[in-house]
Amino acid sequence: MKITKVEGFHLRLPVVEERCDGTQDAFIVRIHTDDGLVGIGEVDSSPHVMKAIYEAPMSHTLCYGLSRLLLGENPLDVERLWDKMYRGTIYYGRQGAAIQAISGADIALWDILGQATGQPVYALLGGARRTHLRPYGSVLFGETPEETARIGASLVEQGFTAVKFGWGPFGQSEAGDIAFARAAREGLGDEADLIIDVGWAWDVKTAIRRVRRLSEYRPAFIEEPLPADDWDGYARLTDAVDIPIAAGEEECGRLAFRDFMDRARIDIVQPDVTRAGGITEMKRIARDAADRRRIVINHSFTTYINIAASLHVLATLPEAPFLEYSMAPSAIREEMTHETFPVENGLVALPQGPGLGVHLDEEVLRRYLVEETVAE
Ligand SMILES: [Mg+2]
Repeated sequence: MKITKVEGFHLRLPVVEERCDGTQDAFIVRIHTDDGLVGIGEVDSSPHVMKAIYEAPMSHTLCYGLSRLLLGENPLDVERLWDKMYRGTIYYGRQGAAIQAISGADIALWDILGQATGQPVYALLGGARRTHLRPYGSVLFGETPEETARIGASLVEQGFTAVKFGWGPFGQSEAGDIAFARAAREGLGDEADLIIDVGWAWDVKTAIRRVRRLSEYRPAFIEEPLPADDWDGYARLTDAVDIPIAAGEEECGRLAFRDFMDRARIDIVQPDVTRAGGITEMKRIARDAADRRRIVINHSFTTYINIAASLHVLATLPEAPFLEYSMAPSAIREEMTHETFPVENGLVALPQGPGLGVHLDEEVLRRYLVEETVAE
């Protein structure tokens, strides 16, 4: 089998607002083969940058665009192709955007491998240890504590047993943080798990004080209280408090995650399968995490391609307490795939078809398409 065509699609909502919501645009990868199998993947990054990384011509043997590296290759050699893409982009890659771009192709290759073998991806990753994941509804804080409480109550009503509030007005003052956390807890009631994504708003001393102060509202974990690069701050914080600290959505590649776990000593790592290096690299990151007794929770704030890929990986891990599940009201997220992975009895089921088990709605893809790259 040979790869005959590599496509990248940049989708964008008609109005994109300045808020921390990755569902407002998308970069979708589609890989075609000579025997008719087609795999899809996604990258959560700047679609414009991703398009450039796919279509760049070769500069020299350590500096290729990804499409050129993939054309003519056997798509079933997934790990060999991961290493080929890593090596072939190393003059501008190694971390960041190039690893993000590789993620999209890697997910599409796993989709093809699953279809070619008639197996869901999780079966090829060593086998599922669970049939369902427990999602937490992932939302931004309301503009006010009252709105935050209403959002929480409505998510519990929709069947969620855990909710994460993030960013927005949180983190500006102690009084404000207490008011928002209390309102979130009141909205959720006593039973549901509350998760708080601080969005980098604190420094380390504030974080130590504030995490202790907010423990009254029983957060299951606290995410990104410090700037992503403050690894020493994370180490001081995790040593000082009992509530688990989570971070890592900005990290790309297993080497970065290994350093992050060892130096920042965080309790929960949050690789995004569409950024951290795809399914291949997320499995490697998860192995490193398990060896260090750390928990992996996916970061996912884009489409159901991301959710499907995350489900396949999380299903195979020794521990997987949660699935991040974006509730952003985006037509790209809600309509671009035929499958939408609904929450039923508080749980999300693994996809069961061969491959990723998620399929593009071509008409919706074209509706939000702003530019594409095609190599064949
Ligand atoms: Mg986050």
